[in-house]
Amino acid sequence: MNKMGNAWRHFCTITYHKLLVMRECFRLGLYRQGVLHDLSKYSWTEFRIGAKYYQGTRSPNNAEREAIGYSSAWLHHKGRNRHHYEYWIDYALDGESGLVGMKMPEKYVVEMFVDRIAACKVYKKDQYTNRSALEYYESGSGYEKMMHPETQKLLETLLVMLAEQGEEATYLYIRENVLKKGMH
Ligand SMILES: [Zn+2]
Repeated sequence: MNKMGNAWRHFCTITYHKLLVMRECFRLGLYRQGVLHDLSKYSWTEFRIGAKYYQGTRSPNNAEREAIGYSSAWLHHKGRNRHHYEYWIDYALDGESGLVGMKMPEKYVVEMFVDRIAACKVYKKDQYTNRSALEYYESGSGYEKMMHPETQKLLETLLVMLAEQGEEATYLYIRENVLKKGMH
């Protein structure tokens, strides 16, 4: 695979994902987040690395980590995109617990939730079901322990609701019960 080909393939991958997330965000009334989601992937810092380490089957960030010992693209990305819980890791107020996950505003938890749905739809294709995102979460590496307990609880509630009741019911719940709270 030549360099230009990989730049093009990477562009298609991130744009397709962005469009899927935008559609879900719009269904939830999150227009601004839908438009801005992952925009920094088009910055030179992130795009260049994504194209250089394009894999096709897994994140280029992992390949960059293996190559140079850390992922400059990911560090740039997570510092700018509030739907990643890693963005919210900061020193605990007690001065003793060190770095912990701060409570995320609900609208970013919802964006994180639809980000996971979109990723599963791409990965699973016609094998995708309403359980896919929950299964992915449950098979997870456990990195989520860095999430604030309330943030984690909301994410889990949404994942279980999606698995058991489907998209329509879950999206209605999000619009009526999760997002309205923070809107006045
Ligand atoms: Zn992102």
